[in-house]
This record gives sequence, structure tokens and C-alpha cells, in this order.
Amino acid sequence: MVHVTAIDETRMEGLRTTFLGALLLPADDAYEVVRHVHNGLVDRRPALIARCTNTADVVDAVNFAREEALEISVRGGGHNVAGRAVCDGGLMIDLSPMKAVLVDPSARVARAQPGVLWREFNRETQLHGLAVTGGVIASTGISGLTLGGGLGWLMGKYGMAVDNLRAAEVVTADGRVLRASADEHPDLFWALRGGGGNFGVVTSFEYDLHEVGPIVTGGLVAFPFEQSGQMYRAYREFCRDLPDELTVWAGMVHAPDGSGVKLAATLACHVGDPEAAEQALRPIRDFGTPIMEELGPIPYSTMNSMLDDGFPRGALNYWKASFLEELSDDAIDTLVRQFGACPSPMSSMMVEHFHGAVTRVPVEATAYPHRSPGFNLVIAGQWMDPAESDRNIEWVRETYAALEPHRAPARYVNYLSDDEGDQVAHAYGPAYERLRQVKAQYDPDNMFHHNHNIPPATS
Ligand SMILES: Cc1cc2nc3c(=O)[nH]c(=O)nc-3n(C[C@H](O)[C@H](O)[C@H](O)COP(=O)(O)OP(=O)(O)OC[C@H]3O[C@@H](n4cnc5c(N)ncnc54)[C@H](O)[C@@H]3O)c2cc1C
Repeated sequence: MVHVTAIDETRMEGLRTTFLGALLLPADDAYEVVRHVHNGLVDRRPALIARCTNTADVVDAVNFAREEALEISVRGGGHNVAGRAVCDGGLMIDLSPMKAVLVDPSARVARAQPGVLWREFNRETQLHGLAVTGGVIASTGISGLTLGGGLGWLMGKYGMAVDNLRAAEVVTADGRVLRASADEHPDLFWALRGGGGNFGVVTSFEYDLHEVGPIVTGGLVAFPFEQSGQMYRAYREFCRDLPDELTVWAGMVHAPDGSGVKLAATLACHVGDPEAAEQALRPIRDFGTPIMEELGPIPYSTMNSMLDDGFPRGALNYWKASFLEELSDDAIDTLVRQFGACPSPMSSMMVEHFHGAVTRVPVEATAYPHRSPGFNLVIAGQWMDPAESDRNIEWVRETYAALEPHRAPARYVNYLSDDEGDQVAHAYGPAYERLRQVKAQYDPDNMFHHNHNIPPATS
């Protein structure tokens, strides 16, 4: 267990006079609950947790950390597998109490605070039949997901979450409150759209919304595991010519009953005309012999929470992910062979297809640079028993290594694990050097480094 040096109460007097939220020290009852994030493998103990209720609280917390030379971590939804939202011995700026979502239906714009989860965001915007690309698991935070790019069911039609960001309010390392948009601090605005939490604490996100649902067409078709290879080959051909409205992923999963039975599964969401959707989705049933079929009209918010039970809070997670050069026969055979040896009935592998709007945005337009049509692979190792950690981590690493000949250099920053700090340059590719320049401008001392860090340029 890490020994946490207590922060002297007298040093906190100034902070206590203005800070509206709770300031939690290790002795406080709520501390144990709040310090934990989604990934149960992450076990860090900050010296102080500042539970912010508004932008002024965030400014106070950032100023306090700077003056007291405390390490900072920033927590949005706390969902990131790398667990960088929580640090050892420093100040955790906890944004999770900041839950407001304001929708302007006539302008089709939503402003949301950084503690909002996708479940909460969709709940408000769907009242007006509106949405923006968000995560496919409803318990994920809008903050980290958006700042890293943000992929989901709407990306074929409307691009990534960052492609729909109009503006953000940011508290910078020197405690200033800036608005970043195409017209205000455009360099910062560019960097925030993919560059993660490197540039400050985002206290408000402003998104363009689109007409979506409330009923869309989608769901899941499952096949026997033995048909995985057949499914992936059919999926690869199917993805060659998809309408923007349709996004389709294909994975290998375990039956939700805990039996450990392995399954192949195709997941799809079509956000266009229901008749066109029915026709476009029909071939999926022929990817194999379905043993479960739940494909049809579905509320958009249900589509985005359909997989939630498979990713419980507190489960132990170790992931690796990478874009693939191509979904070749050899890659498919390796995927299937490796999943056959998967030791945990909670783990899964997902191939996510990119096409349409997300691939038409110029690479240099945002700091999120992965704009080629193709496939992204996620190996999601998940288990409950700490005694099983070594075995499961080893399986993820072995699987990733076996896929080496098929992997592209590109990595999605939001899927990087805690031990992959050296992969950040790959995650940003052509955007990396410009990100370092912007970092030098807004955070030259690298105060915000407890993340997938982009070091400031030195000259
Ligand atoms: C089960 C599961 C499903 C997922 N599904 C998807 C998906 O469908 N699409 C997708 O794109 N990604 C997905 N992800 C990845 C997801 O995008 C990242 O985990 C993301 O970081 C989560 O955001 P968060 O706010 O919950 O995370 P947090 O852990 O709170 O934060 C992640 C990082 O961002 C920083 N940060 C958070 N908020 C702020 C802020 N307001 N200002 C500055 N820095 C901040 C944190 O310091 C940390 O470094 C999934 C992850 C999991 C575990």
C-alpha cells in the first residue's frame, strides 16, 4: 500500500474559504469510494480529492496544486482503463459532481459539464430526438472520451465526438479560464480535439447535435464460436460498401450467463430510414447460423447501453488495441485461435470498422489523426479475481504479440493501457509535433502530465 503524506490542514485554510465542493482527505468516509475508478486494477491514493461543483472550484484546485507543488490528476467519468484519473499522493481534481447538460433544441447545440456520463447526456438530448457521437457503453464519461477522439455508432454518419465539438471552456495550468473554439484560441481548440487532458481541465463541452432516433435500427446477431472465421470473412466483405448511416462491429465474446461459452457476434446500428435500414442489415444474419438475433427497431439510448452489463465497474481490466493493416485471412485466423485460448469468461475482442464521415475529415483538421477507412482491434481482458491477473494480462499480451504482423502503427489513445506511455507518439502520429508546440504554449511546465502525456516542445 502506498503511504500517503497528509496535507497539512493549515495549508488548506485558503482553499476551504472559497471551495464549494467537498475536499476529501484519506481519513474521510467518502474518500475510499471516490478514489476508485472503473478499472479495479487501479489502486492509487491521492493526498487530497477536490470534488468540484463548478468552474471556480476547478480554478481553486488548479491554483492550489500549483502553489503547493502537488501532482495533479483529473477525473471525468473515471472510465479510462489506464486509470490516469487518479494519482498517488497528489491532488485528484474530481469533476464527477459537475453534471449539468443544457440542450438548445432549436440551435441543435448541447453544453455539458465534464462529470456527465454518456447515459446522462443521451437522456437529455434524446428528449428532443437529438444526439452526437458518443461511447457505446453508457457509463463512460463524455470528458475523456471526447478529448481522445470519441468513436461510436454515429461515426459513419457524423464523425467522431471531436468532429462535433464547437467549443470548450478550459482552466489552464496558470488558472486562467479560456474559451477555445474555431475563433478563440484556435490552436488550443485543435489540440483539445484528440490531445486528451494535456492542455488544461475542460469544464464545459459544447457539441453540435443531429437528429437521431429516438428509435434507430440495430442490435446484435450471435453465432456459434466455431463460425467466427466465417463471420469475420463475411463481415470484411460486407464492410466494403456501407452507407454512412450504418456502423458495424464484429467481435468474439462470452455468453452473458457466465457459463464461459464463447460466441461470435456482429453488432450494428443504422440511423437512417427504417426501411433502408432493414434492407441494409439483412445480410448480417447470413454471416453464419444465428443462435441469437436481436436486430430491429431499438431506442438509440438502449443501443448505447446494450453492452453495459458486460463491463461492470470494479472489474479488473487490461486492454491492448491497435488499428489493423487489413482484416486478412491470416489476421482472422490468429484472432480466432487466440480467443479460443482466452482464460476469462468476461473478456472479449472487438473489431471496429471505420468508414464514412469519420474518414472524410482531413487528417490535420483535429489532433485526432486516424482518418483512413479500416478496422480497429480491441483486446479487452477483463476478470474479477486478483489471483487471475497474471494469467489474463499474459493472454492479452500474447494475443497482441501474435497479431504483430497485422497491426498498423496507429493506436487510439483512449484504449492505451497504463504501461503504454511510450505509445503516445504512435497514437498521435502526424499530429504529435504540433501537439508538443501547443503544449509548450499552454502548459510549459507539464503540470498536466498524469495522462497519456505529450511533453512540451523544448524550443
Ligand atoms: C468499457 C469501456 C468502453 C469504452 N467504449 C468506448 C467507445 O465506445 N468509444 C470510445 O471512443 N471510447 C471508449 N472507451 C474508452 C474511453 O473513451 C476512455 O476510457 C475515456 O478516457 C473515458 O473517459 P472518462 O471521462 O470516463 O475517463 P477518465 O478516466 O475520467 O479520464 C480519462 C483521461 O482524460 C483526462 N480527463 C478526463 N476528463 C477531463 C477533463 N474534463 N479535462 C481534462 N482532462 C480530463 C483524465 O485525466 C484521464 O487522463 C471505452 C472504455 C471502456 C473501459
